Amino acid sequence: MNKKDYYEILGVEKSASPAEIKSAFRKLAKKYHPDVNKEPDAEVKFKEIGEAYAVLSDEQKRAQYDQFGHAAFDAAGGGYGGFDPGDIDLNDILRSVFGGGFTGGFSSGFGDFQDFFGGGSRNTNTARKGRDTLVRLDLTFEEAAFGLDKEIELSLNDTCEECHGKGGFEEKTCEICHGSGTVITESRSIFGVVQSRSTCSNCHGTGKTYARTCSSCKGTGQVKKKKTISIHIPEGVDNGHQLRISGKGEAGINGGPNGDIYFEIHVSESSFYERDGEDLYISVPITIAEAALGCKKEVPTIYGNVVMDIKAGVMSGTKYKLKGKGLKIPNSIRKGDQYVIINVVTPTKLSREQKKIFASLAETDLENESIFKEYKKQL
Ligand SMILES: [Zn+2]
Ligand SMILES: [Zn+2]
Repeated sequence: MNKKDYYEILGVEKSASPAEIKSAFRKLAKKYHPDVNKEPDAEVKFKEIGEAYAVLSDEQKRAQYDQFGHAAFDAAGGGYGGFDPGDIDLNDILRSVFGGGFTGGFSSGFGDFQDFFGGGSRNTNTARKGRDTLVRLDLTFEEAAFGLDKEIELSLNDTCEECHGKGGFEEKTCEICHGSGTVITESRSIFGVVQSRSTCSNCHGTGKTYARTCSSCKGTGQVKKKKTISIHIPEGVDNGHQLRISGKGEAGINGGPNGDIYFEIHVSESSFYERDGEDLYISVPITIAEAALGCKKEVPTIYGNVVMDIKAGVMSGTKYKLKGKGLKIPNSIRKGDQYVIINVVTPTKLSREQKKIFASLAETDLENESIFKEYKKQL
C-alpha cells in the first residue's frame, strides 16, 4: 500500500514543533471539512488529515511513526507499543483543537460536524421558512418626508405550481437510502472502521425520489415569479430604516411559511434642507440692512412658507427654531423641528450711490458695540 507521508499530508517539516503541527491541522481541517469544501475528494482528504494529526500530535505515536513509518500502525504488524485504534476519537481531537463550541454550531460552518461523524442527521423533510429577501428602496427627500404607498415588482422564488413544490411526479422511496435520507459509509483507518453518516445525494435527504423530474422547476420545486408587493412607507423614514413585509417573501420549503421581505430605505438628499434625523436645517440669507434694522422674512418649511420676525441686530449664525416644522417621527405623533440659521450677506456689488451711503455710515460710530471694545483691549 502506497500511503502518503503524514508530515507531507500536514505540509510540515519532520522537525515541526507540536504547535506547528496543530496550526497546520487547524488550517487544513477548516479547508477540507466536507461541510465547507464541496470538492468530491474533500472527505477523503479530511480523514487523511485527521489521521495524520492523530499520530503526529501524540508524542509516543509520532516516535513510533518516525522509526517504523506506516508499518508502525499496520494491523498485520500487531500494533507496536500497544497502539489501539479504538482509543482515538476524531471528534475529541477536533474539540480539543477547535474548542468546546465546535459541536454546538461553530461559526465558520462546522456546526454540522456531528452529521459527518455520525452524531446525528438533519431531516431535510422538515418544513422550513422561505428565505428572507433584502431589497434596496430609493426614495426622494419628499417621499421620505411625507410617506407614500408604493407598488414594487420583485422576482421571487415561489412554489412550482406544476409539481406543487415536490420537484417531480410519481413519488417513490429512494433506493439508495431506503427513505431515511441519510447514508452511512464505512472506511478503514487507524481509528478502525469509521462510520460516517451523510445526507443521501440521490434524494438530497428527502428519502423520496420521483420517476419524472418536473421540467418547469427542474426538480427544485421552486420557480422565479414576478410579484407585486404593496408597501406603505410611513412619514419620516430615514436612511438605514428597514420596513419588513412578513410572509410575502420566497416560498417556504416542505410547506413551511414564506420568508419575509426587508426594504432597506435610502433617502436622497434635499438640495435645500439639511436633515438630521427628524430635524431640518436651513440657511436663510439676509442683507446687512435687514440685519441691522430687523425684518419680517418669508421662510420655507416642508409644510409651506412661514413669515418669521427677525430682530434688529441679528448676527450671522443666529439659530431660530421653528417648533414642529421638522419631519414626523415614524410610528409616533411627534415631529421634529426646523432650525433657521441666519446668514448676513456682505454686499459685493455696490452701486456708486450705495458706496456713498456706506462711506457716510462709516463716519458714524458703528463701533459703539462692546465686542469692538473687548477686541481693542487685546491690541
Ligand atoms: Zn436517498
Ligand atoms: Zn416543479
